Parts: sequence; C-alpha cells; structure tokens
Amino acid sequence: MSDSIKVFAPGSVSNVGCGFDILGFAIDGIGDEMILSENDLNKISIKPIEGYENLPTEASKNVAGVAIQAMLDDLGSNQGFDIEIHKNIKPGSGIGSSSASAAGAVVAANELLGKPYSREQLVDFAMQGEVAASGDAHADNAAPTVLGGFCIVRAYDPLDVIQIESPKDLWCVVIHPQIEIKTKEARELLSAQVDLKKAIRQWGNVAGLISGLHQSDYNLIGRSLEDHIVEKQRKILIPEFDNLKQAVLEAGALGCSISGSGPSVFALANGRETADVIAAAMDTVFKRTDLDYKIYVSKVSDGGVKIL
Ligand code: ADP
Repeated sequence: MSDSIKVFAPGSVSNVGCGFDILGFAIDGIGDEMILSENDLNKISIKPIEGYENLPTEASKNVAGVAIQAMLDDLGSNQGFDIEIHKNIKPGSGIGSSSASAAGAVVAANELLGKPYSREQLVDFAMQGEVAASGDAHADNAAPTVLGGFCIVRAYDPLDVIQIESPKDLWCVVIHPQIEIKTKEARELLSAQVDLKKAIRQWGNVAGLISGLHQSDYNLIGRSLEDHIVEKQRKILIPEFDNLKQAVLEAGALGCSISGSGPSVFALANGRETADVIAAAMDTVFKRTDLDYKIYVSKVSDGGVKIL
C-alpha cells in the first residue's frame, strides 16, 4: 500500500434555496487538490498553502487537521500525516472552501489507513473540521463533498444524511464575486424567529425540491427552489444580487439563490446549453461592476472526493 495519496476535493453549494442548513450538492467544476503522506512523527503537519498564506498551518486550526484528528481520536491512532493543500476555492466564498479541505483530508487519510471507515462515516469527521471554520458543526457542505450528489442532512444527533442522485441533465452555474463573506458573520444576520406562514411555504418547497430531484422533474425543481426565509436577510451582502437573479431567470434558469452564505450565487439549469446562456447573463451583469469575479459551469459531482 502506498504511503502517499492525491485527491480532488470538490466545491459545493449548500442551502440550495429553500434547504437552509439541511441541503447541499457538490460540483465537479471547481475544487482543491490535496496530497497526504504518512509520517513517523505522530504529528499532523500542514505545509503553507500557496496563495493563501493567511490560512492556518497549525493542525488544530486548519479544518484539514481538525477533521483528521477527529478521525484518529475515534480510531485510537496517533499516525502522523504531512498535508499539502493546493487551494482553488477561495475561503469565505460560499462554495465550501473549508469543507473541501476537511472532506479531502479525511477521505485521503482513510484510504492511507486501509479504509477503516465508510464514506458515510467520514462525513461526521469532515463536519468536525467545519467547527474550526465557522464555530458550529454543519454538514450541508461536508456531506455532499464526501459523498457526491445532493445530500439532505435530516438530523444531527445522531447524524442522518440521505443522498439523492442528481437528475442527468441538471447543470449548475455559480458566480463567485471575489469578496470574502465569513459564514460566521453571515449567520449573525439571521433572525432567530421564523414566521409560521413563511415556514409552511418553505417546507412545501423543500418537499417539492426533493420530489423533483427524485423524479427528474425539472419544472418542479424550478418551482421549489425559492427561499422565503434566508435570502432576503442575506442578499444585502451580495453586490448586484437582484439584477443577477432577474437576468439569470430571464436566461432560463430553473431557479437562483445564494450559495451557502455567499457571496457566490448559484443557478440550476436543464441542460448545458441553458447553463451557458445563464453564465453569459451573469457575466453581462457583473461586467458592469468593477468587481473581480469567476463563473463556473458544472455538473453535480456524482462521487464527491476523488482519488487521483
Ligand atoms: P467557506 O464557505 O468558503 O468554507 P467559511 O467562512 O465557512 O467559508 O470558512 C472559511 C474559514 O475557515 C476561514 O476563517 C479560514 O481561515 C478557515 N479555514 C481553516 N482551514 C481552512 C482550509 N483548509 N481551507 C479553507 N478555510 C480554512
């Protein structure tokens, strides 16, 4: 067995409109690459991350180190690892930068250790890494990043994740304005109370979205993507959000909302052709600003973290 491994850890879109904190999917179009090697030092050591020198390299502060440590503690092992992270997903992007590192780390370490855990079990450890990033354990990025497809986080105690295969012609377009929004700060904007009428519309949409995904009913997916609770409170953080959403819907998107806690915005489309038209519409809106941005057109990842 090799003592070194390289993995691709995909980005992810969480919340998916109506599914705040319970729904997410991973995307193939952007992700981090990581190389993990076993060492004999009983220590997790993280190399400085090129281009992101401000990210912590102490294992107890970097989500990759925290996630692996959670796994080693459960296993009762003191195996050491050297970790190299090649980051393509900017932290604070809303497309699961921290989850990619946490998920990539545990999948790679598990492989090197001879696979003591299933992918499903690894979600819990990846989620422990997320605590280091945002202060609380949420799995709506970590689960799809580890497992692929759409993932519902039905419950946390104990963790109960349900995976749904993505409809075959479903495409995703993500625009990432190059500003940073910390998940922690975006959470502080949210009111703790939910109006019952809005909640009823929201869980109707969640049910509709899940059914739509199961039946590959693109119209139903589109009708259900609307978020009545969180989007309104958070969109003030995102430049051009209303113009962007309008342009994207006119371009044929099934729906459009904030990816994670932003600033990224995602749209779903039936087919690649429409996805490209949506990407062009996003580009037109953002070209008028003086902000840097990146646009990704991608299918939903069908396997999560990939061993290269
Ligand atoms: P994102 O949704 O892009 O993951 P978060 O705000 O949830 O954004 O997480 C970013 C935070 O996690 C930053 O404060 C960053 O310093 C911290 N962090 C720790 N380790 C990593 C890592 N390996 N990759 C990305 N962010 C990390």
